[in-house]
Amino acid sequence: MIRLAIVSPCYNEEEILATSTARLTQMLDTLAVGQKISPDSFILYVNDGSHDRTWEIIARLHGENRYVKGLNLTRNTGHQNALMAGMMTAKDMADAVVTIDADLQDDITTIPKMIEAHTKGYDIIYGVKVHRAADPLLKRLSATAFYRLQKRMGVESIYNHADFRLMSRRALDLLAEYKERNLYLRGLIPILGLPYTTVDDVINERKAGTSKYTLGKMLTLALDGITSFSVKPIYGIIWLGMIFIIISLAIGIDVAQALITGTAVPGWSSLILSIWFVGGTVLISIGLVGAYIGKIYNEVKGRPLYNVKDVLGLDEETADVQ
Ligand code: UDP
Ligand code: MG
Repeated sequence: MIRLAIVSPCYNEEEILATSTARLTQMLDTLAVGQKISPDSFILYVNDGSHDRTWEIIARLHGENRYVKGLNLTRNTGHQNALMAGMMTAKDMADAVVTIDADLQDDITTIPKMIEAHTKGYDIIYGVKVHRAADPLLKRLSATAFYRLQKRMGVESIYNHADFRLMSRRALDLLAEYKERNLYLRGLIPILGLPYTTVDDVINERKAGTSKYTLGKMLTLALDGITSFSVKPIYGIIWLGMIFIIISLAIGIDVAQALITGTAVPGWSSLILSIWFVGGTVLISIGLVGAYIGKIYNEVKGRPLYNVKDVLGLDEETADVQ
């Protein structure tokens, strides 16, 4: 029988926590009665610097529900870091950790399937979205484009998987060895190279509260998902430069011809157009190189990914309270 931990990051989730806890509790009870998991399995909520009553609610739930434990981070560090905080805290107390968003948009009935796959010897079981009708059209389209781009850039990642997964303690111990500051777990975990499988996951609508992933957060994550794993974009700039030079050579022939025949070269607007186009491309390229330098800057500083303020139902030592 395995001791299971469910790790869930929470950022301003006061509206949904009680419902989510009730659903998870029911599932854990059933699994414990069926002797699929040990009765001391638990739910670990990571409060990622919420501005609402999330932490008070976690504390209340901890008081009335034996499964609930809590980790309170000092400030908002983002979904990926909050997940890391939860996983690293839970790993020494559990045999397997399932990470899931607090809104339970993922289908929790796939958790027993994940456990089954884990007992068969898989270290990592990815929940893969097979039905994303509940996600807005724009989100679905941009996700598809993003996965394609990632693949082209040579980043290993699981199509349509978004941080709903089970990891064994062995996998988490290996993950702990990766010290990078710009976390993109969906790209990092496949690199571990452990046996994995997938289970189908149906995405439901958010029952309460709103999405905490702003467009900005989503774009940053997408950029991290590529730049943390691939330097192909920088090589892309070199290729682009070469293409521009070839084009300018072709234009040069045209200009030379006009000089020989003594006619003026027409095309003021095409000149401006190309200046702006090349200018824009150069700026984007410098920005891209800057993005990599910024990453190096963050890595070199080596600041902690998160700091823990308070814990509930955990020993302070495990949670590394600062
Ligand atoms: N989240 C977090 N920190 C943040 C943003 C989000 O811990 O800065 C959590 C959030 O509480 C939720 C999960 O990450 O449990 C996913 O967020 P959300 O459901 O809002 O994203 P969506 O499903 O809309 O992509
Ligand atoms: Mg959600």
